[in-house]
Amino acid sequence: NPDIKRVLSIQSHVVHGYVGNKVATYPLQLLGFDVDPLNSVQFSNHTGYKTFKGPVSNEKELATIFEGLEENELLPLYSHLLTGYIGNPLFLRQVGHILKKLRLANPGLVYVCDPVMGDNGELYVPKELLPVYRDEIIPLADIITPNQFEVELLTEKEVRSEAAVWEAMEWFHQRGIKTVVISSSDLGQPGVLRAFLSQQNGPRLAIDIPKQGGKDLVFTGTGDLFASLFLAHSHGSKDIANVFEKTIASLQAVIKRTVASLPGGGNGPVKAAERELKLVQSKTEIEQPQVLLKAQRL
Ligand code: ATP
Ligand code: PLP
Ligand code: MG
Ligand code: MG
Repeated sequence: NPDIKRVLSIQSHVVHGYVGNKVATYPLQLLGFDVDPLNSVQFSNHTGYKTFKGPVSNEKELATIFEGLEENELLPLYSHLLTGYIGNPLFLRQVGHILKKLRLANPGLVYVCDPVMGDNGELYVPKELLPVYRDEIIPLADIITPNQFEVELLTEKEVRSEAAVWEAMEWFHQRGIKTVVISSSDLGQPGVLRAFLSQQNGPRLAIDIPKQGGKDLVFTGTGDLFASLFLAHSHGSKDIANVFEKTIASLQAVIKRTVASLPGGGNGPVKAAERELKLVQSKTEIEQPQVLLKAQRL
């Protein structure tokens, strides 16, 4: 039933700021989706701050919450499962069980998996998550949004060239994943982030994204925002290039507003709290993305 638009979103919750479910929910709602957030952690703020505090949910708690949904016969209501940051392997394995039950209830369910493990050569989850993602979870996904480092971990091959990108994309397609998006890489020109998309029996695409803000400025939550926007725009669309372009367009608008809000335009030192995405303020650009960066067909 293409009319169902409801996402079960298993990600982190932060009290202050915008990562995980806090960054994914509002855009999905603006784009017409009901969102059921299931929180994998509840932290005071994201982990890039001086400190963070709060409980991490375990696989039993996840199973219990899901049991409640199941007993009330709510599973057929979901069109999508979206997963992001998950900090323990047993919790991730439980996500696999949940997915199988969701698919039984709705065979058309689309699973969008952001296999969050690390960035720029650094792992920020326990290494035991890698084999669970690689062997149990990724093969069940329809759409995946790994970053360059996560592709290297999963395929066990370095991705230092564009040829290596397409080889890695094939590795995923062979495991049954229809759409693979690498939302940013360092394979572009200096000062340019290059994003890639490959679809099984479909096009190979790239978008060059001029880096916004100073050299050392990093945003948190942009990967999570990417996955939620991509999910929303891909629903019912046959034009994957346009889905990719609209996703990047909204992201660029959010980042532009965030950079504009920074003291000194973001060239000096910036505190974590000052870098929080200007999400709510970007309602118009989420609802009506203006495509400025076009996808190249390769
Ligand atoms: P992860 O969230 O797992 O780290 P990732 O490394 O791909 O994934 P980002 O590097 O944050 O995530 O990139 C996601 C998207 O955010 C990119 O497609 C790009 O549109 C946007 N983005 C992030 N940082 C910048 C930046 N400095 N300038 C312009 N766009 C950016
Ligand atoms: N969830 C939590 C709790 C985090 O601390 C972070 C990053 O610090 C994220 C999710 C993911 O953020 P991003 O979308 O930038 O990968
Ligand atoms: Mg990144
Ligand atoms: Mg991410």
